Amino acid sequence: MLSRTPAEVAAHAAAAPGLPALDAAVADCFACPRLVAWREKVAAERRASFRDQEYWGRPVPGFGPADAEIGILGLAPAAHGGNRTGRVFTGDRSGDVLFAALHRAGLANQALSVSADDGLTLYHTRIFAAVRCAPPDNKPLPAERDTCAPWVHRELALLRPSLRVVIALGGFAWAAWWPAAAAVYGVRPPVPRPRFGHGAQVSLPGAPDLLGCYHVSQQNTFTGRLTPAMLDEVLGRAKESAGLA
Ligand code: SF4
Repeated sequence: MLSRTPAEVAAHAAAAPGLPALDAAVADCFACPRLVAWREKVAAERRASFRDQEYWGRPVPGFGPADAEIGILGLAPAAHGGNRTGRVFTGDRSGDVLFAALHRAGLANQALSVSADDGLTLYHTRIFAAVRCAPPDNKPLPAERDTCAPWVHRELALLRPSLRVVIALGGFAWAAWWPAAAAVYGVRPPVPRPRFGHGAQVSLPGAPDLLGCYHVSQQNTFTGRLTPAMLDEVLGRAKESAGLA
């Protein structure tokens, strides 16, 4: 069931009866011409160090249990990470940092995340992105973000019975949360809208708590803007919000 237009994305997302069906439908999406062309170009050309590997080259679904209490909302897959391996944050430096922290927090069975069949299991946690295709320069256009939104909205709706807290990795994910909260939970953002910041927390009745965290990009982790200790602290707070601490 291919999705080739924004209307088909909305219809197919709404019709997904569960996360496995949603994951399958996401992977068959072709609704953003610029991103489809980019993900396929990257997959065809490949980075030299991955020359011998078959790239996924498609949208990247969420990863983690269907009854997760903690959600981690990212921006979009990396060109040579998720777009290569087919699993979100897998096979790149950002994922190395994130999954090591999840392992330290007891939310993953291993720190290693190199391929979709590496044995990684998440506990209580599901990771998903606001935009499901790798964008050039990691910058989706507003129209692409809006076209992709029904996928994340449906994912949140399916997680609703268990989800207690969402960690927004970076300002893009933070901004994507508010339309999702309105669509899924009927929650209107406070005015003025809470600003993104590392450690920022918003608790609104009827919706999961929202926690801000600097993105685990190399730009942040290599410069020390985001340290392992800072990530551990956010995950600890998420576990508290989720009743897991
Ligand atoms: S970004 Fe989202 S809506 Fe656009 S093609 Fe990829 S999965 Fe489909």
